[in-house]
Amino acid sequence: MAKKDYYEILGVSRDASTDDIKKAYRKLALKYHPDRNPDNKEAEAKFKEAATAYEVLSKEDKRKKYDQFGHDGVEGMGGFGGQSGMNMDDIFANFGDIFENIFGGGGFGGGGRQQQRPTGPIPQQGHDRHISLAITLQESYEGCKKEVGYYHLYSCEICNGSGMKKGATAKTCPKCLGNGQVQYRQGFFMYSQSCGECKGEGYIISDPCESCNGQSRKQKFDKFTVNIPKGIYNGAELRIAGKGDAGLFGGPPGNLFISVNVKQDKKFQRIEDDLVTTATLTYPQLVLGGQLEIENIDGTKETIKVPKSCPVGNKIIVPGKGFAHIRGRGNGNLVVITDCHIPKKLSKEAKEALKQYDDIIGKETDEKKSFFKMFF
Ligand SMILES: [Zn+2]
Ligand SMILES: [Zn+2]
Repeated sequence: MAKKDYYEILGVSRDASTDDIKKAYRKLALKYHPDRNPDNKEAEAKFKEAATAYEVLSKEDKRKKYDQFGHDGVEGMGGFGGQSGMNMDDIFANFGDIFENIFGGGGFGGGGRQQQRPTGPIPQQGHDRHISLAITLQESYEGCKKEVGYYHLYSCEICNGSGMKKGATAKTCPKCLGNGQVQYRQGFFMYSQSCGECKGEGYIISDPCESCNGQSRKQKFDKFTVNIPKGIYNGAELRIAGKGDAGLFGGPPGNLFISVNVKQDKKFQRIEDDLVTTATLTYPQLVLGGQLEIENIDGTKETIKVPKSCPVGNKIIVPGKGFAHIRGRGNGNLVVITDCHIPKKLSKEAKEALKQYDDIIGKETDEKKSFFKMFF
């Protein structure tokens, strides 16, 4: 296939000045720039074509040879004139200054969709940090203070979070135009790779802070005491404002989120805002009823009234002795559920007493109506 004329590609006349050639190339480079035409093979081909033409026509010696001998005159010169033309890396490495002028000089206009190119580090909000904290059910009932420890990024104290030494300057990386990524071609495929020139940052600092390697932040392990409010429930998340990662280059900090895991308790459980426990009583205690002293989860004593002939599973409520409502005032209740103690082992004496009791109770109830009979 015949190669296209370089003047034709750039749309300039054969006697165009170097300035005109540069202008024409800029226009095309802008039009077909991969940032504006993602995954567009045709645009990419045009972009490369224009760069190859510009590479030849912008250099006096190459242009002369091209004018005299055509494509044959520049084949193999400087490595870019060959069959494949220039690759993306070559284009950005060699004509980076042109793009910088285009992008940095407001070439896209104020209203363009194009992202603003960083001319240096851009302040960014720090990430949120998430940690979890286990507390006992008693601690959730009473509220508590807990020390938490976590790694996070803090603003470098040497450079005050600027990432640079005093008097240092920053500029947009000419190779990746601030993208932090460069594209290269392998066979039919385009790949993106972190820009080697700026290490993917998109800008270059002339003299970075040595303490934070120009990152503006450093990592450390921090500890502080957090107040866990009364009534906090399992799975609740506490937000501690500003305790996440420091912002990049002076940006605002992220927050710290502490998710609270409330451990199970052997004697008590939480149902909504009620504190629920079981009182295991003997059969006579359930039948006779009376005053029962129990110990709440916080160690305080409560006296509850067990009614006469109290059934198993009866709920005895002590108002206001449950969990504090985390939203709004007041508390849930302490709920004592009755259960019957069934002994696994009996002394001879107890066994006799029970049989005797059964005899008596059998006569007091209408046994004849029963459809079963018990033999010991
Ligand atoms: Zn620093
Ligand atoms: Zn770069």
